[in-house]
Amino acid sequence: MNFFHEHGMETKVEDNGRVFPVTDSARTVYEVLKNYLKDNKVEIENKAEVKNIIADNKKISSVILADGRTLKARSFILATGVKSRPDTGSTGDGFKWLKTLGHTVIEPDVSLVPITIKEDWIKNLAGITLPKTKITIFQDNKKQFSRTGKILFTHVGLSGPTILNMSKNVRELLNYGKVMIQLDLFPDQNEGELDNILINLFQENNKQLKNSLATLLPSALVITLLNQSTISPEIKCHSITRENRKTLVKLLKTFSLSVKGLLGTNKAIITSGGVALTEVNFKTMQSRLYDNLYIIGDLLNIDRPSGGFSLQLCWTTGYVAGNSIEVENNK
Ligand SMILES: Cc1cc2nc3c(=O)[nH]c(=O)nc-3n(C[C@H](O)[C@H](O)[C@H](O)COP(=O)(O)OP(=O)(O)OC[C@H]3O[C@@H](n4cnc5c(N)ncnc54)[C@H](O)[C@@H]3O)c2cc1C
Repeated sequence: MNFFHEHGMETKVEDNGRVFPVTDSARTVYEVLKNYLKDNKVEIENKAEVKNIIADNKKISSVILADGRTLKARSFILATGVKSRPDTGSTGDGFKWLKTLGHTVIEPDVSLVPITIKEDWIKNLAGITLPKTKITIFQDNKKQFSRTGKILFTHVGLSGPTILNMSKNVRELLNYGKVMIQLDLFPDQNEGELDNILINLFQENNKQLKNSLATLLPSALVITLLNQSTISPEIKCHSITRENRKTLVKLLKTFSLSVKGLLGTNKAIITSGGVALTEVNFKTMQSRLYDNLYIIGDLLNIDRPSGGFSLQLCWTTGYVAGNSIEVENNK
């Protein structure tokens, strides 16, 4: 954060310590980094795809570019990312080279990825965000784990930081059979308290149920929920029975969805796996197999949740590698 503040980017801290530029624009971050490179006279070559890395006698000697050129250097920092979002250029090339060079690579798989849902009506909820929902994962009617946080409905399922952080465990459970997600839309109230909220709400006026509930939840979600019950969305609030209220409380506390699967690497924020950590010196980020090779960022086998840890990882390890090379070069 100090680095960004010193370079003219103000930051703000939101939920759970997540840090953003006050501009809310990723471009601001990009501009700071780009200007920092420019001020330090770093030459950038775009559209210069590396095809291979050449090693000679426990040292990396050069890289071969797709256009046939050979680039030689004293030191090499490998920062090719993993396989998530191949449209950004990260296609897992680094792992191929690292394996050929003799490094151990734990095979990458998607991590931090949206979850897809079987129910067709999920598409009606696309774009809805709920700031606080308790998400519980079930397999064979047995509760597996739960977390509370923000969720986002998409055209095909669920996303948002809490869902992304649960995705890896859901992926593991899917190997053993069907997985259900249960949403408690009112995690701060028990059933009795929620019933009281409904009693007060329905006494206030005699609107149609769907309109009355829309003061608590987004309308599309209200309709979807009511469609799961036998209660008519058009029923007037004063005609709602105690039995109806009980059903509503159950629906709001245990809204169930069936997991279809996870989206692929093209939608993953990060992938798991990477170079075995025992093969990297974390004081310098040097490979333990090649003195002049530095391995950083997503290429490292470090599992992490959503919340800024990935950017922290690539910037911190990049900083350590850059400084170590300077120390080496000044020896
Ligand atoms: C949509 C999205 C949102 C994200 N949001 C966050 C967030 O809010 N907070 C957070 O902490 N993290 C976030 N992440 C994760 C974070 O962006 C990555 O963990 C981080 O960028 C990894 O940095 P890296 O330098 O290791 O690799 P990358 O950023 O993947 O960079 C690798 C670079 O290497 C280049 N490259 C690959 N192969 C070759 C080759 N053969 N030749 C030449 N160049 C090559 C690629 O083009 C790319 O520019 C997000 C990721 C995505 C996809």
